[in-house]
Amino acid sequence: MNVPVRTTCPYCGVGCGVLATPGPDGSVTVAGDPEHPANFGRLCSKGSALGETVGLEERLLHPEIDERRAAWDEALDLVAARFAATIAEHGPDAVAFYVSGQLLTEDYYAANKLMKGFLGSANIDTNSRLCMASSVAGHRRAFGSDTVPGTYEDLEEADLVVLVGSNLAWCHPVLYQRLLAAKERRGTRIVVVDPRRTNTADGAELHLPLRPGSDVALFNGLLNHLAEAGAMNQDFVRRHTSGLDAALDAARLLADGTAELTGLPQETLDGFYGLFAGTPRVVTVYSQGVNQSATGTDKVNAIINCHLLTGRIGRPGAGPFSVTGQPNAMGGREVGGLANQLAAHMAIEDADARNLVGRFWNAPHMAERAGLKAVDLFRAVGDGRVKALWIMATNPVDSMPEADDVRAALAACPFVVVSDIARHTDTTAHAHVLLPAAGWGEKDGTVTNSERRISRQRPFRAPAGEARPDWWIIAEVAKRMGFGEAFAWDGPAAIFREHAALSAAGNDGTRDFDIGAYSGIGEAEYDALEPFQWPAPAGGPVGGRFFAEGGFFTPDRRARFVPTPASGTPRGTGPRLVLNTGRVRDHWHTMTRTGLSPRLSAHMAEPYVEMHPEDAAAAGVAAGTLAVVENRRGMAIGRAVVDSGAQRGSLFMPIHWTGQQASRSRVDALVDGVTDPVSGQPALKDGRVTLRPFPAAWYGFGVFRDRPATLRADYWALARARGGFRAELAAAALPTEWRAWFEALVSPQPEHELLAFHDAATERHRFALFDGERLVAALFIGPDPLDGVSRSFAAQGLETTFSTAGDRMRFLAGRPGSAAPDRGPIVCSCFEVGTNQIASAIGSGRVTIEAVGVALRAGTNCGSCRPEIRKLIAAATGAF
Ligand code: SF4
Repeated sequence: MNVPVRTTCPYCGVGCGVLATPGPDGSVTVAGDPEHPANFGRLCSKGSALGETVGLEERLLHPEIDERRAAWDEALDLVAARFAATIAEHGPDAVAFYVSGQLLTEDYYAANKLMKGFLGSANIDTNSRLCMASSVAGHRRAFGSDTVPGTYEDLEEADLVVLVGSNLAWCHPVLYQRLLAAKERRGTRIVVVDPRRTNTADGAELHLPLRPGSDVALFNGLLNHLAEAGAMNQDFVRRHTSGLDAALDAARLLADGTAELTGLPQETLDGFYGLFAGTPRVVTVYSQGVNQSATGTDKVNAIINCHLLTGRIGRPGAGPFSVTGQPNAMGGREVGGLANQLAAHMAIEDADARNLVGRFWNAPHMAERAGLKAVDLFRAVGDGRVKALWIMATNPVDSMPEADDVRAALAACPFVVVSDIARHTDTTAHAHVLLPAAGWGEKDGTVTNSERRISRQRPFRAPAGEARPDWWIIAEVAKRMGFGEAFAWDGPAAIFREHAALSAAGNDGTRDFDIGAYSGIGEAEYDALEPFQWPAPAGGPVGGRFFAEGGFFTPDRRARFVPTPASGTPRGTGPRLVLNTGRVRDHWHTMTRTGLSPRLSAHMAEPYVEMHPEDAAAAGVAAGTLAVVENRRGMAIGRAVVDSGAQRGSLFMPIHWTGQQASRSRVDALVDGVTDPVSGQPALKDGRVTLRPFPAAWYGFGVFRDRPATLRADYWALARARGGFRAELAAAALPTEWRAWFEALVSPQPEHELLAFHDAATERHRFALFDGERLVAALFIGPDPLDGVSRSFAAQGLETTFSTAGDRMRFLAGRPGSAAPDRGPIVCSCFEVGTNQIASAIGSGRVTIEAVGVALRAGTNCGSCRPEIRKLIAAATGAF
């Protein structure tokens, strides 16, 4: 029996500890690490399914040059030569790196050092620009440093937790579970500020469905109220802050119009403001709904202003709290992975800091100014200013706004390098050189979570194929460009030592990020490193909170109130519907990993468009049909989800589906590259679109043992199922003849048995192809969305042994017979429990989450589905 390896989950910024036990057959069993202070043994549905995502079938296993297999030396020589030649001919700003919050800190450090110290440009930006750049900018404006003041324990010690633009239940599930447990213990009140009624909002005392983008007005109104209600902490403000008058002047400008700007009734505002004013222990958690906005930095500062005014910062149960999306967004910030940062939380615009870092690195070509932020970077690729680009561990062809422009830019770029774990993404399709990177379970290094806690990611298996760690790939290119001495690390521990030493260099308490205690860490100590919170200066106290007694990192050590003038959201003359984008519970980014898991894919198996019933009616879109969302940039198709919890005038689409999993559902292709003027973060939740029905002549649902080469439909969405794949399909025109169409799709072999059923009157057609007792493929066709076909039942067919001709024929019914239950759409991923099973349990008197858990086990492992179970119980019993 192998010993579990203590490592960290590679998904969200909660940073949960994982015990990974590799099996002799290459499988991996995972469990939550009970000793990790982020999760104390809990894992969400994504973390629990990590073992299903480590297979090799989608991996990039060896270097490639122009789609032919290449040796490492040849590929690395080419990358170094092309970058050197581009710099020699066009200058250092003609090259760029676009990196990722998926990188480990050591990888990030190496990439940043190479670009900013040795290539002479700061053209390195990261997909964290899309995630939390506005929080970084807001922190720096208010605190003089990019500091998250609090800890996760604050959510458990608060009496009021305000969640702003954060669907914590789905996007940071373990933190949400910790919050719910605290609520159970101490009666924590939860307020959710979000245009959508999300699963998180369903579990809150108060939901404020404000107008999209009106958060600044809401918090300006709160600041004004706190000042007038006598909630100001006079002592804290006098001793530790400056700029209050200007901030209050800005807040008062439109204070009378807060109800109109936010769309919230005055009594709702009064209730929230009174609750905040009267609760000393309050934490305001904010996430993508705040950051991904053209006014994101102002939103962050409007929130921080309220905490500074009340002195509710850095104390147990009190403070503003940015939670990051990615596993190592914080580590990236620490090494300076953003184009407008220097390493170790130093400012690139500060000449003294540049000199310090330059001396420390012995750098021959220090960048002298900030580089291009993500949106501008890809525009520079598009117009030819950037001629050589290296993309590491991310998929900008799908995740960037103006995604089709990004695709065109890469197609036209003279030299594109992609290092990744996945062979086929919409981005790798444009690479001249592909470099196979080590994946989770193979990588060795550290990550930092949202509460400044640094944890080890440890390997428990050898790298797949010829994959190599990202830091090694970067160092090998650096050596070939003549910088060998500065990149001569023998492993990640050496990089971590250097990173820690730089954090302490010339610091003396002037910078928040200091982990100098680890600047001499040895290999064994690094291997055994326990999770720790920074700061960790040499000889000083480790971890804890910042700013309870001031000590901000501005020149006068005072925090700054930042005036944040509110305005209405200008709508212009374009499409009227707002397109909000975000995550679903069980998928991560562009699904290169979670998409490999059948049970994660079962929760949401296709892209969807969530809309208010009135918007659906106005557009003529019926629930369960397909909807087209479009604007001048293009169109996306998704299943229509009609929900009264959606805000009128606002649509929601998930970000995860790419050209690899669906025909036309790349939602960021519809989003303009409008950015926050301070942070450069794009407004990914503020697209402008129209809505119409997809003119489907037919709908289909299919299951396939092997991935079909093509799905032959205008709309298709393909997902993993146990034993194969499942697909939703639709098209605007009927084929000439259904049997020929199906045969062209699945290529039957002579030994296969093809069963078919046709009902000309109802235009329904069903096909099932068997290889002996095993199903090869099946397809159910009809003029409507096929509600009568059980997706769960059909997908289970891929794992079923069909012993008799009768069994095989009965499968064509598309649903179980009366003797067998149909579990319906999956709610609990861990135990694969469906809606119908839960509804049945509720119907037989199990009307609490616990009782449903006892009956079905649903919700008893990771807990991620508990909000949905609660919603089903409430819907059935009317107990809202
Ligand atoms: Fe991973 Fe889930 Fe923990 Fe996030 S909450 S780190 S996705 S297990």
